[in-house]
Amino acid sequence: MSDVKNFINGEYRVSSGGKVFDNINPCTGALIGTVQEATYEDVDAAVQAARDALSGPWGKMSDAERGEILHAIADGIDRRFDEFLAAECADTGKPFNIASHIDVPRGAANFRVFADAVKNVATEAFQMATPDGNGAFNMAVRKPKGVIAVISPWNLPLLLMTWKVGPALACGNTVVVKPSEETPTTTSLLGEVMNEAGVPPGVFNVVNGFGPESAGAFLTEHAEVDAITFTGETRTGEIIVRAAAKGLRDVSMECGGKNPALVFADCDMDKAIEGTLRSVFANCGQVCLGTERVYVERPIFDEFVSRLAEEAGKFTLGPPEDKNTDMGPLVSHEHQKKVLSYYDLAVAEGANVVLGGGVPDMAEEFSGGAWVQPTIWTGLADDARVIKEEIFGPCCHIRPFDTEEEAIRLANDTAYGLAAAIWTENTSRALRVSTQINCGVAWVNSWFLRDLRTAFGGAKESGMGREGGEHSLEFYTELQNICIKI
Ligand code: NAD
Repeated sequence: MSDVKNFINGEYRVSSGGKVFDNINPCTGALIGTVQEATYEDVDAAVQAARDALSGPWGKMSDAERGEILHAIADGIDRRFDEFLAAECADTGKPFNIASHIDVPRGAANFRVFADAVKNVATEAFQMATPDGNGAFNMAVRKPKGVIAVISPWNLPLLLMTWKVGPALACGNTVVVKPSEETPTTTSLLGEVMNEAGVPPGVFNVVNGFGPESAGAFLTEHAEVDAITFTGETRTGEIIVRAAAKGLRDVSMECGGKNPALVFADCDMDKAIEGTLRSVFANCGQVCLGTERVYVERPIFDEFVSRLAEEAGKFTLGPPEDKNTDMGPLVSHEHQKKVLSYYDLAVAEGANVVLGGGVPDMAEEFSGGAWVQPTIWTGLADDARVIKEEIFGPCCHIRPFDTEEEAIRLANDTAYGLAAAIWTENTSRALRVSTQINCGVAWVNSWFLRDLRTAFGGAKESGMGREGGEHSLEFYTELQNICIKI
């Protein structure tokens, strides 16, 4: 049995209020262990430690020195790869073959990429005339913003948390992380790596707990937090933006999506099927960038639907360690309840269920797990709730379209604007369509292909601000102009 502790000022601490909550294995429903729930006093201690560390050795280091430490953190994750892999898969139920290729390597890469990015970004300088004829120089310098609160979700716990901690530390900030209550283990484990890599105490802190009236709210409402970076649901994001308004603290919001895929008749069908299979079902559909609405040009609609259903119907559902597993369970029973409620709603709203729609038959040992079937619908009206609301499960609705204009209109008919996938072999069309879709990330003939130097974020209700490459440095630093009169 594990006991996941808070990590404050370089050391592991139990809850000062003696409070713990359960960590459940989503494959079986069995107890993995307990998690120490941070009280307000614990969160306050973490924030104070982070504040103090800003003026300690960390605050005096050069970018290059901090960069070396960030590389040591990445090396530390690589060295303990198997531990991170086992912990991530136990908390989430996701297959080893996904987490070993995506979650854990990206967890390490997030430190290396931003350590190097900081070294290579210039700041602006302007020379100006003055009435006395001598002139002046303006020179910008970047300074850390201070104490950053990192609030992360459960779908890609290590990857999404390090996506924020990496650049925050590279820029010289200190952090207090509140991982999702569903998946706390790898964030806590990272504390050991930080100590081994020589990160000074107080630079990286972890507090465990829930959102409202718990560690999440204590942290985001704390006056000594200078900025908040959040990944999670849009409605939670709204609450956090309200908390950040007090004291005008800066926010970065990476929120939900209801992402479209547009499949044109001139696509490479094999590529479109393979890509859409991944974009709908990867990580059991629990990817913010995942596709939940598929629009297919009418001449290839029937073939596309039957091929996608045939391929998804072959998925093997199973536990992480089984090499044959294509899809794991959902993260929790609570989330399973939510996804199944949409499976029922789809039928009530008049969907034709092409595949799945319920709970799969699993072996006895997995009967307590949060399993759902991969599911495909057709036939829903454009204003159905299943088309409008983010489900975050292994499911999609497929609808035919007749013209490019119609496809673009349907893709944009959503409150969200995170990502889109466009499948066509016509480059002019690819450019024409992708630039007309109101979203942060548009993929053409691919999905989830990420260059960490590029801007990442959402339009509309999918978020505020951009992270990635130089854009992360914008958020994690305060740009100061120094004007020097000659
Ligand atoms: P969530 O909003 O329920 O929780 C996210 C985090 O916020 C958790 O750590 C939670 O404890 C915390 N939290 C909840 N209420 C809070 C409050 N009042 N104050 C402070 N903290 C609070 O999201 P989730 O269910 O963990 O994650 C799934 C959601 O995340 C989906 O909507 C998905 O689209 C989104 N997501 C977005 C991106 C992106 O990059 N845009 C990436 C991954 C996931």
